[in-house]
Amino acid sequence: MLNRRQILAALGTTTLASLAPSALFAAGSIKPDDASALLVIDVQNCFLPGGSLAVKEGEQVVPVINKMAKAFSNVVMTQDWHTPGHVSFASVHAGKKPFETIDLPYGKQVLWPDHCVQGTDGAALSKDLSIPQAELIIRKGFHKDVDSYSAFLEADGKTTTGLAAYLKSRKIKRVFVAGLATDFCVAWTALDARKAGFEVYVVEDACRGIDNQGSLAKAWADMAKAGVKRIQSADIAVSA
Ligand SMILES: [Zn+2]
Repeated sequence: MLNRRQILAALGTTTLASLAPSALFAAGSIKPDDASALLVIDVQNCFLPGGSLAVKEGEQVVPVINKMAKAFSNVVMTQDWHTPGHVSFASVHAGKKPFETIDLPYGKQVLWPDHCVQGTDGAALSKDLSIPQAELIIRKGFHKDVDSYSAFLEADGKTTTGLAAYLKSRKIKRVFVAGLATDFCVAWTALDARKAGFEVYVVEDACRGIDNQGSLAKAWADMAKAGVKRIQSADIAVSA
């Protein structure tokens, strides 16, 4: 039997361990089941090297995602899908530069270089993605005056993309989030998935961040607070 002090010490260790990436999961210990879905966020040419809003090392997520996806029977992908002259583009706001912010009716909006315009090559999914079983592609950000980082809700906080209802009707209980960028579309998707009642894992090495003014550390802190589990792709069992 453990005495009280030993129990408290063990609890203290667990609490600390849960703050460190992947400390709670042994390699290959997570086995996605039929109630699990992989959400592949915005792996599009504009966010990859050579793109107009390239995320540093963004291309490195592709082989990690391709490998991990083999463990999932349910995969949903997203595409940022903006109108020309979208409200999130710095180019439509006089005197504003990319990465500055403005106040819109729904809150603060970071301004971006033009990216992922509907029907352009930049908006296409990476040709190196190899996930033939992917069953649904959610397009988001297609309302000209509202951005949508999240795959679940637009930035006004109320317009749904329909993804939560889709996943629930398919009896999905847990989602694994990967893609670009960690601190924007991945984090907002993970946080909204928690709000919608899903168990949520973010696969850290299958994501890359933009890190605009501390946004990456803030995103991880917000996700930890919301109960998002931070794991590595090696924690997921993939049969060869
Ligand atoms: Zn966008």
